[in-house]
Amino acid sequence: MSKTVKCPTCGKEVRWDSASKWRPFCSERCRLIDLGDWANESHRIEGNETLPQELIEQDKNNQH
Ligand SMILES: [Zn+2]
Repeated sequence: MSKTVKCPTCGKEVRWDSASKWRPFCSERCRLIDLGDWANESHRIEGNETLPQELIEQDKNNQH
């Protein structure tokens, strides 16, 4: 019997065994996405002054 866990990034079930190399994530991609989110949070806290507000505004305009 193998236990399953849910991938923290996409919620997909992942078998908790040695074959699941990236557990608790389903894949390397989900693992990197999760680590990337974490890194972005850090940068946001440390780099408030360099927040590219203009770029964010441009993105909003492009979505219209
Ligand atoms: Zn996943």
